[in-house]
Amino acid sequence: MSGECYYNHPELFKMDDEGYPIVLVDDIQDDAMKKHAREAVEVCPAVAISVES
Ligand code: SF4
Repeated sequence: MSGECYYNHPELFKMDDEGYPIVLVDDIQDDAMKKHAREAVEVCPAVAISVES
């Protein structure tokens, strides 16, 4: 658990009380937000997140 997702993209993720990420958005329509989600996937060191197109 690195926190990369919620530190870099707080518009998409937040940290819970134990430091685990919570996904805030499950249906992204905005192109910029889609780009941010793909960036979060690319930098996640645990390969723990993905996006569906
Ligand atoms: S989902 Fe990936 S980037 Fe986010 S806290 Fe977990 S390991 Fe880190």
